[in-house]
Amino acid sequence: MIVIRIGQLADQLGVHRNTIRNWISSGRLPARCISGKRYLLSETDFGRICREFGIDLSALKLKYVRGAPLMSREMELRELNVRRLGKPLGKLSDEPSWGSACMTCGSCASACPISGVDGMDPRKMVRMSVLGLEEDILESQWPWKCTMCGKCERACPQNVDIVGLVHRIRGLRDRSRVPGPLHKGVLMCLAKGNNLGIPREDFVAIVEELSAEMAEEGYPGFTSPIDKKGANLLVTVNSKEPFAEPDDMKYWWKIFYAAGESWTIPSENWEGVNWAYSTGDDDSLRKIVGAIVRNMYALECKTLLLPETGHAYYATRYGLERWFKEDLKNFRVTTVFDLLMSYLDEGRIQVDPSRHRKVTTYTDPCHYGRKSLKMFGHGYFEEPRSIIRKCAPRFVDIYPTGADNYCCGAGGGGWALPFKEERVFHGRFKSRQIEASRAGLVITACHNCRDQIMKSLRMEYDLKVDVKNIWQLVADSLVRPGARGSVPSAGRGREI
Ligand code: SF4
Ligand code: SF4
Repeated sequence: MIVIRIGQLADQLGVHRNTIRNWISSGRLPARCISGKRYLLSETDFGRICREFGIDLSALKLKYVRGAPLMSREMELRELNVRRLGKPLGKLSDEPSWGSACMTCGSCASACPISGVDGMDPRKMVRMSVLGLEEDILESQWPWKCTMCGKCERACPQNVDIVGLVHRIRGLRDRSRVPGPLHKGVLMCLAKGNNLGIPREDFVAIVEELSAEMAEEGYPGFTSPIDKKGANLLVTVNSKEPFAEPDDMKYWWKIFYAAGESWTIPSENWEGVNWAYSTGDDDSLRKIVGAIVRNMYALECKTLLLPETGHAYYATRYGLERWFKEDLKNFRVTTVFDLLMSYLDEGRIQVDPSRHRKVTTYTDPCHYGRKSLKMFGHGYFEEPRSIIRKCAPRFVDIYPTGADNYCCGAGGGGWALPFKEERVFHGRFKSRQIEASRAGLVITACHNCRDQIMKSLRMEYDLKVDVKNIWQLVADSLVRPGARGSVPSAGRGREI
């Protein structure tokens, strides 16, 4: 083996010393650094370089030592099991806002409730996408444990679109490897018009049966107008209601009855929950939204209401604004909050504030709050609180609140996904927030938030609270116009 110094070799070859350093670091000249800033090279490699430069090896004054054979740079890397990075411009770098601007500050990781799960966090995910480690990210279950809540984006000083990146990562995974029932639900929705594949005749029968019950329960003449043409409101339904909790549909029906609303439910394609958004399947997302658009035209409705979950509203509106912009000139999309506010403000319904005496708080569904604020320019923070105060005056807010609120842990399809442990772990922040508020009643506006808090977090974290969706709170607070203690009717609603 030959011992050289970089400067000495550079002089002998007539090149700059940085050239020698580059050859060594690139592997062109295999050399090992030893003490005294010296390098060890094999006679063969040194001879090859000398031949390239037309230098007579025997004319040089060299120091020879015994030493272990040198490995090429390639072999050394293999020996060290060093990973080669992919192309920096891969499928996860198409959009500059997915990572190019990232400063690796880690604010997103600090904000994310599931940082550390599986050794991952949003900062690492962004870095991996920037470095082209796509196969590793697509293989990881972590992007499916993320609830796409946007808390990380809220903290990001560079406005990196972390949720958009998760959407893309999920969309790139082979459909046969989408966890849980989400992709099957998408296929079912495309084929049958709802995620659980409830046949049209069964759905109509359930709605008619429930309507008859309502009429007997003090709502004389009540019928659910299925496929009614020219109604003001077209209302979508969460398939888990007719499937498992049919009585929950009555909350909205009671409100519509009291308000004298003109509304309808389509007999087909009535599901607003769009799991294709959760699986990153844009093609199916567009088709499912398109079926709702066709219903709006076929039934000649003016307003679309998607009351199931924050997700249903957000995903459908996202799809409408992305692919059906022109159609939005022909009908409008409203939210549960705008509708309930208008009923209350116009006196179409009256509520009794004495029925809910418990200290009451509100947990912001991420899609209606933080995510709508970012995507559509308005987050629903004040409206729900105003509605709740009318029904349950002992209102207290939780901290942090509004756009900084924590996700319940069940978003992004999380309630249906097979990651219960992580879902409950995610929900520890929400549980602490609720506990610290000392509220006895928690209001939300999303079936997933309600189910996660009511059916999971209450037991897991021993929370002593009742949970209601805001439309249940309003329905449970409705009073007969003119009844004792109620606000006089404006005359537009119906007596109940
Ligand atoms: S907060 Fe934004 S800039 Fe900071 S590491 Fe996360 S993605 Fe990068
Ligand atoms: S969207 Fe929510 S769960 Fe996902 S990485 Fe961001 S903070 Fe974490």
